[in-house]
Amino acid sequence: MKVTRIAYSTRLNAGKYAALAEQARRLGRVRGEVWQRYGSIGGVGSGLRDREVRDRWLADGTHVRFGVLANAWKETVRDAMADIAANLASAKVEVRRAIGHRTGDPADRKRMLTALKADRWAGDPFLARQMRKHWKRGRNRTDHQIVVRADKYNTVVDGRGRLWLAVPGLERRKMVKIPLSTTVAPTGTLRLILRGGGVEVHYQIDASQLRSSQRPCGDRAVGVDKGYTEALTDSDGARHGSRLGELLAAESDRSKERNRRRAKLRSIANNAARRGDHAKAHRITVNNLGTAKRDRQAARHRAQVRTEIFTAVHRVVDKAATVVAEDLTKSFAGRKTLGRNFNRRLAAWTKGVTAEALANVSERRGSALVHVNVAYTSQTCHRCGRLGRRNGDRLHCTWCGVVWQADVNAAINILHRADDPDIALHTPHHRVKQILQDRTDRHRTRLPVQDSSPATTERRAKHPNRSATSKE
Ligand SMILES: [Zn+2]
Repeated sequence: MKVTRIAYSTRLNAGKYAALAEQARRLGRVRGEVWQRYGSIGGVGSGLRDREVRDRWLADGTHVRFGVLANAWKETVRDAMADIAANLASAKVEVRRAIGHRTGDPADRKRMLTALKADRWAGDPFLARQMRKHWKRGRNRTDHQIVVRADKYNTVVDGRGRLWLAVPGLERRKMVKIPLSTTVAPTGTLRLILRGGGVEVHYQIDASQLRSSQRPCGDRAVGVDKGYTEALTDSDGARHGSRLGELLAAESDRSKERNRRRAKLRSIANNAARRGDHAKAHRITVNNLGTAKRDRQAARHRAQVRTEIFTAVHRVVDKAATVVAEDLTKSFAGRKTLGRNFNRRLAAWTKGVTAEALANVSERRGSALVHVNVAYTSQTCHRCGRLGRRNGDRLHCTWCGVVWQADVNAAINILHRADDPDIALHTPHHRVKQILQDRTDRHRTRLPVQDSSPATTERRAKHPNRSATSKE
């Protein structure tokens, strides 16, 4: 299993940044060319390899147009073709689904799946039509990246302990030296991403090399509930990643304040432009409405949240051989439906990071991750199974006469769902409610009738299942 590491440049001078940005811009044109020529069924879709493309370009002189070193464009061709292949693979997932709907005949299905896998769909009218439908012709939008092969860069530590990464520039034998903010040298193929005057160095390492992967997992089953104040609450009542709420709130406030300020500046600039003071409008746009600082802060915030969430999951896995959780990869609302609401987008993103951390840490440390149906787990009392009354972070069970911490109660219910004989992962929401009600009703019929006076009987008839209907 591979994990991506990112190293950041520190105080990179503007001249070096500009040189790298120019190289990335030219390589963006290489990518565009690859997408344009081979990003369709006749190109990568027909099984074309990057080596063949390189040979063609060398033969017809295409590569000369870009003004970059040989290795840079060759690596970029390889990378762009891998992007196209990934695009193709996701289209195939859709087509596989369509094959399932198309035919129930196993032999026919197998024939089509085999043809699809071997990129031989063109001969089959149904497959060809499906591929055209699902494989949207892509376009390159990447012009701020440089891919550097492992043997084309080097790292040096200077007298003050600072790590420098030297990568090829636009001219032969003239390396660009980038000061990094880490002391851990990147390894393997690098992807340099240029953003806001800085360079992010992305590289992959084998997860088994991580120190955290060597840590053994625990030996128990633990349920976890995902929260916003804390990343996770477990079924033992422990909370992990308790800085999450603070981090998210701070980012939300910062973003609101910044948007307010920017809107004001933008209106000042617009007014100036209307008056004819274009110099002033330009000054504001350049000096006050740039995105470099904003992007830098956003990247830092993302890194902090990821660390908080991954650390929380590690704490749980320290004691768990089995982690029982909601499947957070599902129920992703798309970007569109979330719209411009910053907090909702932030919440959706956090959920995705939590899903990634649970899967990633479990796999690396050898614990099992069990996804369960979490319908009503935050509303039912884990002791008696009845629906309780939710009030903020408390859950009041009128039957037991107990007030639970809502998230701890939910985590315990989630743990129990792992061995629930009736409620499976995909049991519909309304069915889960019915099952829960049937259970408490069955329980109730076994209880002796304590009072048969007419008044009580009447009240019972009016409220046959009081606790179940008091859903708030
Ligand atoms: Zn109860």
